[in-house]
Amino acid sequence: MNAPGSAGPPLAALRRVTRTRPQQNPGERCEMCAAPIADEHQHVVNLDSRGLMCTCRACYLLFTDEVANLHYRAVPERYLSFAEFTLDARAWDELQIPVGLAFLFRNSVQARTIAFYPGPAGATESELALAAWQRIVDDNPSLAVLRPDVEALLVRRTDGPHGSCYLVPIDACYELVGRLRMLWRGFDGGQQAHQAMDDFFATVQHRSRPAPVNAASISGGPS
Ligand SMILES: [Zn+2]
Ligand SMILES: [Zn+2]
Repeated sequence: MNAPGSAGPPLAALRRVTRTRPQQNPGERCEMCAAPIADEHQHVVNLDSRGLMCTCRACYLLFTDEVANLHYRAVPERYLSFAEFTLDARAWDELQIPVGLAFLFRNSVQARTIAFYPGPAGATESELALAAWQRIVDDNPSLAVLRPDVEALLVRRTDGPHGSCYLVPIDACYELVGRLRMLWRGFDGGQQAHQAMDDFFATVQHRSRPAPVNAASISGGPS
């Protein structure tokens, strides 16, 4: 977990997760207590390995405390949309993400934000994104509701002046990356990969509720 290469540990864990997670695995068991679990089940992040563990409800609930000093964190189930989110074309170019989609999460162990975009090899870390991303967060204070390690911000480039941004459970990102990796063809992913992204965003949009308006008054107040 203390490997020197900055792109190493989280990326390796992400690759492992996306490679080993089966699409459907009837008879799956809780990775903590071995109780049988349904296809649809909850996950816990191991903060050291960055891996996801499939859990039963009882084990999941042991790790929902955000402030406890634990090595595991339950992945929340909420989806939020940010109506006010702005990401213009220039900001997107600065993120240096070649496909029109990226997700970002906060790694609390390494105390840094990590940006990934999907592709044929699974998830690729965007090394250059972070200064640009910090500026976007500064411009969009409501993004501060993101919980480290277990939630990700999913940003998508759109044709209009604004990009779209959602807060999603991190296991949903892993699932999308795994699906895209299987479907990816050619340079830009091809039709099937784009269809999968469209489907995923339709689902995210459907499940999302508006993010809470940032109550903490930022200097200058709401615009
Ligand atoms: Zn269990
Ligand atoms: Zn699972």
